[in-house]
Amino acid sequence: MEFVARLLIEAYMRMARLIFWKRRNAKFIVLLGGPGAGKGTVAAVLSEKLGLPHLNVGHLLRREIENQTDIGRRWGDVIKAGKLVPESVVHGLLARELASSKYESGAVLDGGARTLSQSRQLRRLLMKWGNQVDLALFIDASDEDLMERLSLRWTCTGKDCGKTYHERFNAPAVKGICDACRGRLMQRDDDKPAVVRQRLSTFHKTFAPIRQYYEDTGILITIRSTNEQGTAAVCEQALFAVEEID
Ligand SMILES: [Zn+2]
Repeated sequence: MEFVARLLIEAYMRMARLIFWKRRNAKFIVLLGGPGAGKGTVAAVLSEKLGLPHLNVGHLLRREIENQTDIGRRWGDVIKAGKLVPESVVHGLLARELASSKYESGAVLDGGARTLSQSRQLRRLLMKWGNQVDLALFIDASDEDLMERLSLRWTCTGKDCGKTYHERFNAPAVKGICDACRGRLMQRDDDKPAVVRQRLSTFHKTFAPIRQYYEDTGILITIRSTNEQGTAAVCEQALFAVEEID
């Protein structure tokens, strides 16, 4: 039975690739990792290197708020508080965004697979065009390192600035003062140690099945990220992993 199902899916995908021929060679990479793992940084590097658009779900949501759309008005407060919006909302946005011709050659996705059901929905969505997730890249950092990255982060309160600093890795010249605009630095609520611990525990709970899911599909690659090695080493490993998918 499973064999027949697989044959049918394969036949469907082949047909979809004929219909959506402009998308037939599209590559989709999904970045996975806990809060502070550096998904955004790695996504930006991969996007540049592969010439694929960087699709950040957080940015999509913030754009809805800026444009004061129905979604933005309805979920604005939830988004600003850093909480998760319902999966149906994320899925709807993602479906609309990915339908744009901008993504004909694929995308580097940052935040499109935060739960198991989102990961499955993403798969079904891409299948429509005969595409699939080609690589799931898990940036694996220890809780201690993530804790250190997030709980030592300071954000500028200056209007239109919002620059972030890090007590250890990127300290301002004067403690508590922004280098760029001289604004006062403060610690965001969700960067406070107790909240970070909570975010990490939520991440572990939701991530275990996602990891299993992509492992079963055979497309998961794990790269280690430590505060000791820094960002450059992580990006280098990510580029190396990407070379293997062609
Ligand atoms: Zn500033």
